[in-house]
Amino acid sequence: MSAGYILAIDQGTTNTKGMLVSREGQPVFRASAAVKVSSPRAGWVEQDAVELWNSVLSVTKECLAAAERGEGRVEGIAISNQRETVVAWDRTTSTPVAPAVLWQCRRSAAICEELAADHCEAMLRERTGLGIDPLFSASKMRWLLENVAGLRERAAAGEICFGTVDSWLIWMLTQGKHHACDVSNASRTQLLNLDATDWDADLLKLFGVPRAALPVVRTSSGDFGECSGVDGLRGIPIVSAMGDSHAAMAGHACFSPGSVKATYGTGSSLMTLLPRLSRSRENSGLAATIAWSLPGVGVQYALEGNISMAGSAVQWVGEFLGLADPVNDAVALAASVSDSDGVCFVPAMLGLGAPHWDSVARGTVTGLGRTSRAGHLARAALEAIAFQVRDVLTAMVEESGCDLSELHVDGGATRNDGLMQFQADILGRSVVRSGHEDLSALGAAWFGGMTLGWWNTLADLTKLQPGAETFHPRMEAAEAEARCAQWELAVRRARLREVQA
Ligand code: ADP
Repeated sequence: MSAGYILAIDQGTTNTKGMLVSREGQPVFRASAAVKVSSPRAGWVEQDAVELWNSVLSVTKECLAAAERGEGRVEGIAISNQRETVVAWDRTTSTPVAPAVLWQCRRSAAICEELAADHCEAMLRERTGLGIDPLFSASKMRWLLENVAGLRERAAAGEICFGTVDSWLIWMLTQGKHHACDVSNASRTQLLNLDATDWDADLLKLFGVPRAALPVVRTSSGDFGECSGVDGLRGIPIVSAMGDSHAAMAGHACFSPGSVKATYGTGSSLMTLLPRLSRSRENSGLAATIAWSLPGVGVQYALEGNISMAGSAVQWVGEFLGLADPVNDAVALAASVSDSDGVCFVPAMLGLGAPHWDSVARGTVTGLGRTSRAGHLARAALEAIAFQVRDVLTAMVEESGCDLSELHVDGGATRNDGLMQFQADILGRSVVRSGHEDLSALGAAWFGGMTLGWWNTLADLTKLQPGAETFHPRMEAAEAEARCAQWELAVRRARLREVQA
């Protein structure tokens, strides 16, 4: 009998990854393709949706070749993806009508300010779990409708599809037969009613988005249609779709309240499962969201905190210093010094996300002295990832009432041992790094395997978990406190409103 695989696709901000996952629930092959991010104006961040699709085709081709070499066969397709990013395309030709507006993009800041001035915050938080911020898809959709010539009329006439990245990929894989997204992706648009788990009519009106332009909302594990558009995958079902952060939480088997995970990619997301839906307090800086919805389990909710610049802060410093290979050279530079020599770098180039949500804040470096070198700045960029994660975790402990004693981590930046040790040090908590890279792809594959009947319960998935590596805190508590105090001061300086007050 030939081996059966799930082809898991993780469409991220900087890379698209493809993974073959075996019936034992383990990755047996990986492929990756870089994708470009452009920033045509200050605060604007975009991608080419066709390039995203082509990167999916490229990793799929490599995975299919590997499956063939192993005399195996792909039995299902699982998708995890960057969230909140908006794609808009022509329903007839499948051609994008504008660049994909990335989750990081702040172009809809003025729309958000208007909503805040109109006192919409409490209503939006009550219905969607999310505060007002340009991060979420709804204000990006409204911006497109208001600024792309003819789009509003064409959308009203039913000619335009709006979608999250999962729905764009599902559309392309099924050649336009299915316009669907999963509920975890939908919950990050700010158009989904958390109680009804469907689009909210009042919110559609508020943001001007016609319901007919939006994908149908489905469970995360389930039937998203059969692939028809790709050689070697014709007739293969799409068996799951999930936001990358949610999929990573599944890959960590964080299936009960009290465990928390952090994904360290371009940005960072911390998530912990909630025992039931409860809105976070307005000033906590956290959001209530849908973790996933599974047949037989139902909808599960999570508390989340998002950081806009995590791994991308390292890349930014590498580019700022003119390094040839920005990320790797910046990481090497950071390793060439023993500490940051008092330098703090707050990577608020796109404002600050959780727990501050301050779109006026700007990137700030403090503590420069006569002995400061480029290595100290690079090191401060790495440390900034850990400090930001600490700020969110502190808010989460307070909000959830759970100690959250271990942090489960994944994502590109977690391969950095020095960063993981520093994270454990300033948290005073153990940091548990999964034995697998690309947990988002793996989590999506596991949920897809439930659709195929490979596994039936969350307990079955927990047994698939590989061994993990733990970093224990080593720094003296007093030193950790002093470092955190320095960081907090730097954050206050980055927050221009506070500086001016
Ligand atoms: P995404 O899913 O958002 O595309 P990934 O999980 O692939 O992100 O991680 C990519 C990010 O990780 C990049 O922003 C990069 O700067 C960062 N990164 C990669 N290697 C390292 C490293 N050794 N140390 C710190 N950051 C790193």
